[in-house]
Amino acid sequence: MEDTIVAISTNNIGIGAINIIRMSGQESLEILQQVFSNKKIKQAKSHTIHYGFIMNNGEKIDEVLVSIMRAPKTYTKEDIVEINCHGGYAITNKILEILILHGARLAEPGEFTKRAYLNGRLNLLEAESIEDLLESQTENQTILAMNHLTGKTTKLITSLRDKIVKLLSNIEVNIDYPEYIDELQITKENIKPVLTEVKEELEKIIQEAKNGELIKNGIKVAIIGKPNVGKSSLLNAILEQDKAIVTNIQGTTRDAIEASIVYQGILLNLIDTAGIRKTNNIVEKIGVEKSKQLIKEADITILVLNNNEELSKEEQNLLQIIDNQNNIIFINKNDLPTKLKPIKTNMSIVSGSAQNKKGIEQLKNQIIKNFHLENLNKKELNYLTNIRQITLAKEALNNINNVIKDNEKNIPIDILTIELKSAWENLGKIIGEYYEDELVDNIFKRFCLGK
Ligand code: GDP
Repeated sequence: MEDTIVAISTNNIGIGAINIIRMSGQESLEILQQVFSNKKIKQAKSHTIHYGFIMNNGEKIDEVLVSIMRAPKTYTKEDIVEINCHGGYAITNKILEILILHGARLAEPGEFTKRAYLNGRLNLLEAESIEDLLESQTENQTILAMNHLTGKTTKLITSLRDKIVKLLSNIEVNIDYPEYIDELQITKENIKPVLTEVKEELEKIIQEAKNGELIKNGIKVAIIGKPNVGKSSLLNAILEQDKAIVTNIQGTTRDAIEASIVYQGILLNLIDTAGIRKTNNIVEKIGVEKSKQLIKEADITILVLNNNEELSKEEQNLLQIIDNQNNIIFINKNDLPTKLKPIKTNMSIVSGSAQNKKGIEQLKNQIIKNFHLENLNKKELNYLTNIRQITLAKEALNNINNVIKDNEKNIPIDILTIELKSAWENLGKIIGEYYEDELVDNIFKRFCLGK
């Protein structure tokens, strides 16, 4: 028998008016009965709420509302009791302690969701999306997590697995029951279209997973440029608040400043780097090294130039370092006379003035455009979003590519089934149809307590 687990499910103990303590397992109602003022609570109907007191040695500990939810129509598919108690730290912990004294065990992080998964209430993809949902900061992140949770992504993976399994079973029939061969003869040629179809769908899923990652984690934007071109002013203009230090003394913004905004539903994580230049000043040097490192870490870099100055050698260097189509040049101070000569580059160029808040919208739009996120169809946000899922999809694609190659080399079809099965298994692992205990433990440990 599984033991009965308990945890505080709400956050910010001591701040909110109410806390919820959740208990799941066969003994939930028995344990509640022992500590609740209403001694008939064990007979209560499922999905009902009851008023009463948590008692300890005849003493009233707290006035509470208790929800009773009987298996199997619950989050974990087990009997669940939720106690709505007062939000104080001491009270909540006292009740938790009493429940543990009466036989419940403190849940490990993610254990409720793990049980939901093990009891077949959620698949692995859906379970992982609960964590994403809890961490969502933007609407798009929420939609993405909900689409996982409601099974849209699962359907996509399942349909691919169905295609592979159909092919596998046709091949097996050909081998084991050659008398049926007339009906569905499998040849090198007639398996090609299905293989190509699966390959293309997988490639699309992997390609789109990049969008999923960006929606989930946000776009990391590094703002670079030599001192005094207006990086901090630009950051402030983007943030529309005064987070960065703005000054005309060179090299003040030594440490990178990070701040986030949500633009068109996408989280932009902005980093204002220290000016990159050769310097003998040790403190400044640390900043410079950090900047170079940040360019590497960033998803996109904005190089800020001064419209009122000619391009320096350092800036020409920087242009070379970051010259790829994804990055952006922002020519700042366009309110001042133009001294900067036209620049030859593959990058998009936006001109404006950080001080006068000109060109800022255009710049933010350009960031979104460079990632092709401007026309996101919210209903189709069903990308794979974490490394585990993406790695497995890539492995499945690898398997399919090998099958296609071997098929071209005229390798007997029954030998191809080995690699086809691996593709099917790898896709299965994404939704947890095929798993190792260790993997499952690992996934659920990342959850917060009480979930
Ligand atoms: P950073 O060292 O690159 O971070 O540059 P700052 O943001 O500290 O700006 C340096 C100086 O340029 C400050 O005096 C700003 O007020 C000024 N500045 C920033 N943007 C503009 C602009 O668009 N036009 C003009 N005229 N001055 C600006």
